[in-house]
Amino acid sequence: MKIGFIGLGNMGGPMAHNLAVAGHDVAGFDTAGVTIDGVTSVDTATDAANGADVVITMLPNGAILRAVADQIIPAMKSGAVFVDCSTVDVDSARAVADQANAAGLGAIDAPVSGGIGGATNGTLTFMAGGGADAFATAAPLLEIMGQKSVHCGESGAGQAAKICNNMILGITMIGTCEAFALADKLGLDRQKMFDVVSTSSGYSWSMNAYCPAPGVGPDSPADNDYKPGFAAELMLKDLRLSQQAAESADAATPLGQAATDLYTQFVDNEDGLGMDFSAMLPRFSKLGR
Ligand code: NAD
Repeated sequence: MKIGFIGLGNMGGPMAHNLAVAGHDVAGFDTAGVTIDGVTSVDTATDAANGADVVITMLPNGAILRAVADQIIPAMKSGAVFVDCSTVDVDSARAVADQANAAGLGAIDAPVSGGIGGATNGTLTFMAGGGADAFATAAPLLEIMGQKSVHCGESGAGQAAKICNNMILGITMIGTCEAFALADKLGLDRQKMFDVVSTSSGYSWSMNAYCPAPGVGPDSPADNDYKPGFAAELMLKDLRLSQQAAESADAATPLGQAATDLYTQFVDNEDGLGMDFSAMLPRFSKLGR
C-alpha cells in the first residue's frame, strides 16, 4: 500500500518505521525535518498525501490536525482513507472526518494506548471511530502497528474511548499515590501495601502494572527517578480533553475535574513538568493535610 505519514515524533516515527519494515511504501513528513529509517522523506504534508491509499497523522493536538487536514484533504485521491491516530478533542475528530467524507474520502479517528514502547514494538491498542469500510481498509495497517484494534462506533468514538480510559487512569493514579502517602504516614511498609492492594479490591493498572512506589511491584518509571514513561503534561492534556468533552456533552465528572485540577497544579506550579505522571506519589509525600 502507498502510505502518507504526517507527524514523525516519538510515536509517529516508530509507527511509520514499522509500516515500512512490513513492506509498505511510506512517504513521511514532519515540520521538524525528522527522517525515519525506511521512510521516504518528503517536503510537505501535501507531498505525503499525494497518491496515497491511506494517510496517517500522528500530531500534537486538534488545532494542528485541523490545519493539516485543510492542506491534505484536497490533495488526497478519491476513495483514499484518512486515519488520524493523534489524541485530540472529539469535536476536531468529527470535523475532520466530516470534511474528509464530504471530499469523497474515508476517515477514521484511531487514537492509541501503549506509549512509545508500544509504538516501537508494534503492540499499540487502537480505538477507532468512523465508517466500517474505512476501518476495514485501515485494519491491516493497524495490525502492523498494534496488537489490538477495537472499532468503537462512528466518527469521534475512538477519541471518546481514549479520553474516558485516560480519565480513569489519571483518577486511579492519584488515588493510588494518595493511598501510598497515607500508608507511609500510618507506618505501613510499602511492599506490604503493594502485596495487599495488588491482590485486593483496590487494585488497578496504576497499582499493579505501573506502581508509583520505587522498588515495589513491576519495573516502572518510579524506579527510574520518575523519568517518563508517560509525562505528567501528557496526562494533563488528556484530562483537559476529558473535561472539554464532559462540558460539551453535559456530563458530570467531578473526579475527572479534580484530577485535572491536581495535574494542572503539579505541572504548572510545582515540579511536575517533565516528570512521569506517577510522580504524584513524592508530591503527596511532601504534603501534609
Ligand atoms: P511528539 O511531539 O513527539 O510528535 C509530534 C510530531 O508532530 C513532532 O515531531 C512535530 O514536529 C510534528 N508536527 C507538529 N506539527 C506538524 C505539522 N503541522 N505537520 C507535520 N508534523 C508536525 O508527540 P508524540 O509523543 O509522538 O505524540 C503524538 C500524539 O500521540 C499526541 O496526540 C499524543 O497525545 C498521542 N499519544 C502519545 C503517547 C505517548 O506516550 N507519547 C501515547 C498515546 C498517545
